Amino acid sequence: MKKRNIKALSITELASAITGLDEQRHRSDQILQWLYQKGVTRFDRMTNLSLELRRLLDKRFVISSLEQIEETHSNRDQSAKYLLRSEAGTLIETVLMESRGYQTICISSQVGCPLRCSFCRTGTGGFERNLRSDEILNQVLHLKMNRIEPRHRFNIVFMGMGEPLLNLENVTKALEILNSQHAFALAQKRITLSTIGFPDIIERLTASPLKFGLAISLNATTDRSRRKLMPQAAGIGETLQAAESFARNRRMRATLEYVLLSGVNDRPEDARRLADMTHGRPFKINLIPFNEWDGAPFKRPTEARIDRFVKILLPRAPAVTVRRSQGTDIDAACGQLRMRRERCRD
Ligand code: SF4
Repeated sequence: MKKRNIKALSITELASAITGLDEQRHRSDQILQWLYQKGVTRFDRMTNLSLELRRLLDKRFVISSLEQIEETHSNRDQSAKYLLRSEAGTLIETVLMESRGYQTICISSQVGCPLRCSFCRTGTGGFERNLRSDEILNQVLHLKMNRIEPRHRFNIVFMGMGEPLLNLENVTKALEILNSQHAFALAQKRITLSTIGFPDIIERLTASPLKFGLAISLNATTDRSRRKLMPQAAGIGETLQAAESFARNRRMRATLEYVLLSGVNDRPEDARRLADMTHGRPFKINLIPFNEWDGAPFKRPTEARIDRFVKILLPRAPAVTVRRSQGTDIDAACGQLRMRRERCRD
């Protein structure tokens, strides 16, 4: 019999596998604790389970993990990038950022991305496959066990490679385990899912019990320019409507990410339209001056253009922050690490 990957099971699937072995349901909670709180990689270490159950688990399941093959630290800030390899040889990149005492793990949900947004380097590399839920969770687990102080609180952002809502089944499985008290026990404010925004999927997630915050990659103030930058993105009106409903339902603000591209979306009229469409709504705006990469078709705006944009936006828009990208000297922006490594292997 082929062994099953125990970390790829949802909480319900794990519980039914355990009750199917004539064990009590709460044993599956204990297994979650061993896997995700203690990070064990062998069933014989699960010492509060009977020897018989440990042997049965070992016969039927495997515990997956990721092998670290590269770690690079920034000279400019507290970020570090990690290139991790799955058993199947897939390269996955994960970034750990530190700012004002908070550590944030930026995780990938796909290898590559099929959406080809024109400002994004990941999009130029094509799409390989969706990550399984255990590959998503193992990125978090690897850093939690090896690079984060025990009991130190950390945040998770789905802002690495890929569009998480195109890998919904695996991402929702992972979210359930990130939320679970028996596993990572991460509250809503500690997890942010960043997406170009598929309104129908956001509506479904609004109705779900999963706890996380939402960030919409907006990047334009007219549908025409948004479609040019992000050919697969939905209209701005319906996207913001879905994000607003999500935010009101969770009693929180949704983040609107806006990558500033010189001469493209950083003009005074863009700032005025952005202020108009967000005024009085439960949003916060995160401006991200473009991080240039080799061959990029866009330029980063000057500080003067960024300041002008912020000054127009501030009086009417909800909370506005300018995010200075971390890890620019270590290719930590989405997709850059894996792509450089693959170029090296060619
Ligand atoms: S910005 Fe996000 S959705 Fe667009 S190509 Fe890059 S990874 Fe994909």
